[in-house]
Amino acid sequence: MRVSDTGGDEKSKKLAEALLKGWKMLSETCPVCGTPLFRKPSGEVICPVCGTRVILVSSDEEGRIERTKLVLAGVMEDLVRALEGEVMDLREGEVESLDRINKILEALERLVRINSELGSRSSQT
Ligand SMILES: [Zn+2]
Repeated sequence: MRVSDTGGDEKSKKLAEALLKGWKMLSETCPVCGTPLFRKPSGEVICPVCGTRVILVSSDEEGRIERTKLVLAGVMEDLVRALEGEVMDLREGEVESLDRINKILEALERLVRINSELGSRSSQT
C-alpha cells in the first residue's frame, strides 16, 4: 500500500520513533489524523504524529454500561409485569392500586431516562 499524502514519510518516521521508545501500539486510531494510537509507559494515550491526546473509554467501562443496561431491562420487565397486575386489581375495584400504578410509572419513567443517558454515552465513538 502506497501512502499518497506528502506527509507520509514523516508519519511513518514518527510511528517508528514511537515504537522505538517502547510505546505500545493500540488498535484504536487518532480521531484527528487516523494514525494508530500509542500508549506511553505512563499510561497516557497519544497520537505520535499530530500529538493529540486521547482518553479511551476503557472496555471495562463499556462493559459496565452494557451490564447496567441489561439489569435495567430486567427491572423494566418486572415493573411492566407488576403494572399489569395492578391494572387487573384496579379493574376488580381495588382503588389503592391506582397509587401503586403511579409509583410504578414513575419508576419506569426514571428507568427510561437512565437508559437513554447510558445509550448516548456509549454510542459516542
Ligand atoms: Zn493524530
